[in-house]
Amino acid sequence: MKNFILLSSLAIVASFSPPTVGPYVTRNPLRAATDMPSPVEKPNYKNTGKSIDEVFFNNQKWIDSKESVDPNYFNALGSVHKPKYLWIGCADARVPANEIMGLDAGDVFVLRNVANMVTGTDFNVMSALQYAVTALEVPHIIVCGHYDCGGVRASIENRDHTPPLENWLRSIRDVYRLHSSELNAIKDPEMRHRRLVELNVIEQCINLFKTGVVQRKRVETFRSDEFSITQPRIHAVVFDPATGKLVPLKVDFRQYIDELHDIYDLYAVEDETKVDAANKEALSSLKKGEQPHLPGDIDADVEVGKRNRWKFWKK
Ligand SMILES: [Zn+2]
Repeated sequence: MKNFILLSSLAIVASFSPPTVGPYVTRNPLRAATDMPSPVEKPNYKNTGKSIDEVFFNNQKWIDSKESVDPNYFNALGSVHKPKYLWIGCADARVPANEIMGLDAGDVFVLRNVANMVTGTDFNVMSALQYAVTALEVPHIIVCGHYDCGGVRASIENRDHTPPLENWLRSIRDVYRLHSSELNAIKDPEMRHRRLVELNVIEQCINLFKTGVVQRKRVETFRSDEFSITQPRIHAVVFDPATGKLVPLKVDFRQYIDELHDIYDLYAVEDETKVDAANKEALSSLKKGEQPHLPGDIDADVEVGKRNRWKFWKK
């Protein structure tokens, strides 16, 4: 008898469940019945400011705008995932990757966390990096910091933010320690903050170069004739929410890596003497007036070690 009552109740509940409505699927039948547009009507795009509805209205608006320009837009988007960039940025709501770069859906593989960190023991960033580099084969990785970064500001406070946040911030405190003489010489606290943001980006780029994933791909593309330049290329940039500007940092990564490659290089690319000869050949093959790719360029390429430097000069 108990079973019968239970089954009957279920049948009643089932018979009163409203159908799925609109283009949305919801697990809450009451909300579905009251808040969502009907299955036959298109949303009227009214943003009432209530709850999360604006998200779905705006989504439909976006779909319509895309399809009005290209009816095949979503067929194309749904059929291929081949982004050109891996973006490692801060989770700050003012730094939306695609939007500030003027790029479309499908162009950027995005990873965001507090203060755009690349930590070797973080499975999240390491997994995204591995997938982006080995499966998606992104040619470019952008590490983007931003001024007025709450994570960076918190990292220089002498107070316990408690775990896990404090553990996370400690890696930024380490960046401060590495560059403390430069940072302590900056008297204006805001300018010091901005410089720490920049130095943090540079250190996270260096962390990328330390990884086996990046080094393996760079060796592979260095050896392959398919690639005119070693990939992935790594770019250090900073966004200023107060102006909307995305600014490339002029970094001589080679200088950094020359100091570090004996420690972090995981692959020996070529015999030094062979590469010295290749260097000379590459330089002599430059046409008149053609400049080698010099350190300090915005693109800030870094070789796996100085052994393959000549490859960049062929750009
Ligand atoms: Zn931030």
